[in-house]
Amino acid sequence: MKLCVYQYLFSFLQEVKEAFFKEKTVELKGSFADLVTETDQRVEKLIIDSFKEKYPTHKFIGEESVADGHKCEWTDDPTWIIDPIDGTSNFVHSVRALGSAAVDMCMVALGAGEAYVEYGIHVWDIAAAALIITEAGGIVMDPSGIVLNVVSTNNNTHHICL
Ligand SMILES: [Mg+2]
Repeated sequence: MKLCVYQYLFSFLQEVKEAFFKEKTVELKGSFADLVTETDQRVEKLIIDSFKEKYPTHKFIGEESVADGHKCEWTDDPTWIIDPIDGTSNFVHSVRALGSAAVDMCMVALGAGEAYVEYGIHVWDIAAAALIITEAGGIVMDPSGIVLNVVSTNNNTHHICL
């Protein structure tokens, strides 16, 4: 039986939900605020393995893969940008609060905020929310005022303003 993307996503969400209240193994990736758990790594691997099977020519840029040394490469091939758990700090501490750039950006898309500014953000932190902002009629730009294209740079760090 072939699964559709939504069925895959539901199974990944189930994986995260089940891990939410369990004891977590936490490691630092860079700074004290840049955390990774085994769930981040396992879910990203599940996503990539599942989607590679369904879409063998597609490419992947994953937060945890890049942290493990994989290059953030942009090609003309369809590319999935993956942040397996957006807000690992909240996940680790079982806090239900904002703390995700994507959620903050979606609050702007919703009209609950007029603007959002973030510096030193990664493509997996903003790719999906940038699409939501654009579809809602908003603009995502860099600090110089140029409309941000998340695939326009080989540098995986962006500065954004909404
Ligand atoms: Mg993450």
